[in-house]
This record gives sequence, structure tokens and C-alpha cells, in this order.
Amino acid sequence: MSLRRALLALSAPGGVAALAWWMARSQAASPFRHASWAPEAPYLVLGIVALVAFCFHRINLVYVAGVLAGTCAAVDFVVPEAPRVLPLLVALVPWNLVLFMADNPPSLRTASGWLRPGVLALQAAILVGLARPALWIEYSGGFDAPPADLALALGCSLLPAGWPGVSPAVVAWGLAAAVALLRLLVRPDPFRAAILVSLLAVAGGVLDREAPGASSWYFCGAGLALGAALVQHSYNLAYRDELTGLPGRRALMEVLGRLRGRYVLAMLDVDHFKNFNDTHGHDVGDQVLRLVASRVRRASGSGQPFRYGGEEFTLVFPGKSLEDVMETLEEVRRAVEETPMVLRGPDRPRQKPAPRRGRSRDGRRKVTLTISIGAATPNAAARTPDQVLKNADQALYRAKQQGRNRVCAAG
Ligand code: GH3
Ligand code: MG
Ligand code: MG
Repeated sequence: MSLRRALLALSAPGGVAALAWWMARSQAASPFRHASWAPEAPYLVLGIVALVAFCFHRINLVYVAGVLAGTCAAVDFVVPEAPRVLPLLVALVPWNLVLFMADNPPSLRTASGWLRPGVLALQAAILVGLARPALWIEYSGGFDAPPADLALALGCSLLPAGWPGVSPAVVAWGLAAAVALLRLLVRPDPFRAAILVSLLAVAGGVLDREAPGASSWYFCGAGLALGAALVQHSYNLAYRDELTGLPGRRALMEVLGRLRGRYVLAMLDVDHFKNFNDTHGHDVGDQVLRLVASRVRRASGSGQPFRYGGEEFTLVFPGKSLEDVMETLEEVRRAVEETPMVLRGPDRPRQKPAPRRGRSRDGRRKVTLTISIGAATPNAAARTPDQVLKNADQALYRAKQQGRNRVCAAG
């Protein structure tokens, strides 16, 4: 679980949604709420998002946009006539969103691919049946209309009179929000964050009946959050290294292009990593690279860490001299050396065995690794960041030749 990465994933979807919700509530934004185009705005935003998501092969987001547009339509056209459907919307819609947080659904070319559209259509039919029982009876071929008591039961307060209105529908919403939050914490990504934001939007859009025209802006906010998640995902694909979560080579090149004046560049390389891969396998090698990256990030102080490629990392220290950063680099080296890396091997037994002296418990193995570091700063012979990086690489080579697990400065 990573709170930091979850907050990072929430930043873009949460930011734009907050702006739209401010529009929903603020007096200052009242002219927008009453604009002639405001009621159609959510359908336009959600339609564009669905189209872009389709082009990005994010079919689950197409469904999410569809569920939100359907909910918005229900709030606009069904609720004014039949407010009794409100608890059903509050209880059902969030669970649809949470289920669609899973990865892309199976293709519609397979039988299981039709399960989701089928379940959605059934829910829409129940909603219409509750709102217009006569319509249901006409088209359902003799089936009884859904019992109106269902909506009543979902909406009744579970607490004694005088307490806040906590109904089964609100409990269902709360549980769905808790599941959504947990899934985001377990695997933070912008899409999961956007769906959590959409859940809040549904609560606002369905329940906030005070400010006229406000519900459109809640659903607009949800649509914009989905759009922001798509943009953030594309940014991550371009600039973040997927394995370690650190910014990748492209991000480094952009930072180098902006460097001026004093700075230090350091190249870090894991020692004997080829041997390590040969001994433990490539998958364990990947686990270790992730651990090394997290140690480097934690110990690098004012340095910005990047994955340069393979088992090599770069630290950028803008505005610093070599003397300023030598201690930090030494700390990074020590942090990797002193932290035993606990590997969860594929042979880890399911049952926890009784601890035995001299052996690692529950199939976990501890290994230690070291890194070598070369650092350089601009001088008369190396004026551009590219040249400084080459000097840092040469210093790294010297560190390797002198026996590895050490920091060498160019000069
Ligand atoms: P030295 O101490 O001189 O740096 O030795 P080394 O074995 O680390 O050096 P070398 O550059 O020959 O080996 C780097 C190895 O890193 C080769 C490759 O198998 C491994 N490697 C590069 N990228 C990845 C990766 O993403 N995952 C894993 N598991 N291994 C990687
Ligand atoms: Mg290398
Ligand atoms: Mg190496």
C-alpha cells in the first residue's frame, strides 16, 4: 500500500473534479449553473471522454462514462417524476463503478463479455419499472413490476428519529466508497482514483438537491476527472518508468535541458547485477531493482532520482556543488548496502512453516547488494549537461575499477 502514490494518482482527477464541484456549490458560479447549455454539458463531457477512452482501448472507462451519463439522465428525467428511485440510484450506481474499476472487461465477441451490458440493462429496466410501473407491465410480457417497497426499504432511516438519515442505500454507498478507496491504496493508478472521484460525484449529483442546476456540475466533474485520468495515464506512460515508479529517461533529458549554472549529476549502477540475475532469475532481479529504487529515492535528499535504464539510476542536484552532495551520495550508497533486501521467492510456501534457526522463515530470502556511484559537475572542459553526464559515467567506471561499492567524483 502506498498513500503517497495514491495521493499522486488522485491529484489530477481530484483537482479538476474539485473545480467543477466548486461550480456546483459556489454563489459566484451561479451564472454558469443557469446557463442555457449547462444541462447538456455533462452528456457532452462524458461523451467525449467515452470516445477518447474507446480510442485508448480503455473499455472499462467507456462503461464508467456510460453509467455516469445514465445516472445523470435518471436524475434529470426520472427523479423529478418519481423521487422514490433516489435510494436505488445511491445504492446501485457506486457498486457498478467499483466493479468496473477492474481491468478491461472481456470482449463483446465472447459470451461473458455480454454480462456487463446485460446487468446494466436489467438495472435500467428495474429503475424504469419502479418509476413507471405501467410501462413495465406493458413491455415485460406479464412479469410483475418491481415492488415499490424495495425503494422505500432502501431509503428508510436505520437510526432513530432525530439522527442523521443513514439508510441502507447510504450504507451501500459507503461500503462501495470504502472498497474503492482500498483498491486505490492497494494499486494506485489514475483510473482507480477517477472512479473514486466519480463515486463522490454520484453522491453529490444525486443527493445535493438544494442548489438548482448543481447536479449537472457534479457529473461534469466526474467526466472531467475521467478525462484527467486519461491524460495523467498518458503522461505516466511517457515519463515514468513502470518497474520502479521513478521518472524515466525522457523526463531526465527534459530536466537536463533546463539545467543552468551550478549542478551535480551522479550516475548509480548496481554492482554485479548480471550475476545476481543469473543466480536468482530475472523476476527476482526486477523485485530488487524496485527495492534499490525505493532506497535511492528515500536517501537522495535534495537530489532528483531517475531510472536511466537497466540497473542504472541518475541523481540530479540543481544548484549544488560536489562538496555539497558527497555526503548524500555516501548515504545513498550506504542505504543500499545496509538494507537487507527480503525477496519473496516464487517457492514461498502457502503455509507459514515453524521458524528454524539459521534458515529464513516462510520462504523469504535476504540478500544484500551494493551500488557504485560516479558524480560530476560542470567545468571548463565539460560545459553542457551531456558532457557532465559523460564525466559522471567515467567517474562511475573508476569506482567500479577501484573495487565497487564506493563513490567517485570526477576531477
Ligand atoms: P558491474 O558491477 O560492472 O556493473 O556488473 P553488472 O553485472 O551489473 O554489469 P552489466 O552492465 O554487465 O549487467 C547489467 C545487467 O543488468 C544485465 C541485465 O541482465 C540486467 N538488467 C538490466 N535491466 C534489467 C531489468 O529491467 N530487470 C532485470 N531483472 N535485470 C536487468
Ligand atoms: Mg550497468
Ligand atoms: Mg551494474
